[in-house]
Amino acid sequence: MSLILSWVETANAPNNPFPLNNLPYGVFSTKKDGPRCGVRVGDMILDLKTMENEGHINFGGVFESPYWNDFIALGEEKWTELRQRLIEYLHKDFSNKEEILKLIHKESDATMHLPIKVAEYTDFYSGRNHAQNVGTMFRGPENALPPNWLHMPIGYNGRASSVVVSGTDIRRPHGQLKGPDFDIPKFLPSRRFDFELEMGAIVGKGSNGPVSVDQADDMIFGYVILNDWSARDIQAWEYVPLGPFQAKATATSISPWIVTKDALEPFRCSTPKREYELLPYLKDTKPMLYDIELSTYIQTQKSHELILSTTNFSEMYYSSAQQIAHHTSSGCPMNVCDLIGSGTISGEEKSQRGSMLELSWGGKDPIKLENNETRTFLEDGDILTLRGQCNGSNYSIGFGTCSGRILPAEK
Ligand code: CA
Repeated sequence: MSLILSWVETANAPNNPFPLNNLPYGVFSTKKDGPRCGVRVGDMILDLKTMENEGHINFGGVFESPYWNDFIALGEEKWTELRQRLIEYLHKDFSNKEEILKLIHKESDATMHLPIKVAEYTDFYSGRNHAQNVGTMFRGPENALPPNWLHMPIGYNGRASSVVVSGTDIRRPHGQLKGPDFDIPKFLPSRRFDFELEMGAIVGKGSNGPVSVDQADDMIFGYVILNDWSARDIQAWEYVPLGPFQAKATATSISPWIVTKDALEPFRCSTPKREYELLPYLKDTKPMLYDIELSTYIQTQKSHELILSTTNFSEMYYSSAQQIAHHTSSGCPMNVCDLIGSGTISGEEKSQRGSMLELSWGGKDPIKLENNETRTFLEDGDILTLRGQCNGSNYSIGFGTCSGRILPAEK
């Protein structure tokens, strides 16, 4: 696959993450117009609501909604049809670009909103190095991975209500904290507020009953970058015996652009070697992951943006399709626009860790930033940003940033 040229010149620029090969879907507003569905091309956004109103496309009025849910519910044939139409309209050989130019806005003039109304949100724990690191800190290297971990993707049911779009400020939560500083529980602002670098899969097709790994893969509409904000001190006290609860309920940020499975297809890659053969309902059926380079950055009140770590989505032990197959194995139904978090993605190296818990090794080994400041966990005023990119032979695919600034706890 090579770069598809567009008449939108910025889409053809080298290293631009939004060429015609990408065409990610988001919801934007401008000073003049309220939230509406749009598609990103170069540094521009094409307004699909007006495009449908003016008769250039016809999807039964789904773009009247300021979310992608109604379009996604139309199913895979319509997903393909829209992508083909958009490639035609934006292709360098399109003859009537004046008509489309009227429907295009500069991305810099737009405010981004949540692209979907999230139906339900589940977060998994399927990054091998992350689970190994966290387990080592809590239980020692011998017992790092729980005995079930290499046999099934472990997850918990999160709250759809907590999902926010990139750029939303994140207020440091209060919670019950206990030890090592206190003998009895206290209700205080979290002192160990953290990020988790993850990808989120968006379910495009519902189910009622168990689905196979291949069916699950077909059900996925696209992917976003996801930050599962985590209060480690609240988590440490509350997680026994039912797992994370308030520690993960403050907010989950997602990047504003849904990159479709079609755009990611050329970047498919395999899961790592299995230590135990997976049970038949979870087995890999093809390359199940994507080669997506991921990076994390911090901007403190005293600095510009500084790099924290880099890793890759290919580090996952279980793919989103395997997670969905496992999720439905009990009969649990999936809805259109359910969000499935991958779990924190860390590489093997110290510089490839996807959380501050790991980067500072539980706070014991402070992270030295390039400007000589140090961090164990996030401080008020810090802006944490995640980015992702696929690199093809002569083009790249990006997701936009997933970022949030930490506000001080409520007084
Ligand atoms: Ca997580």
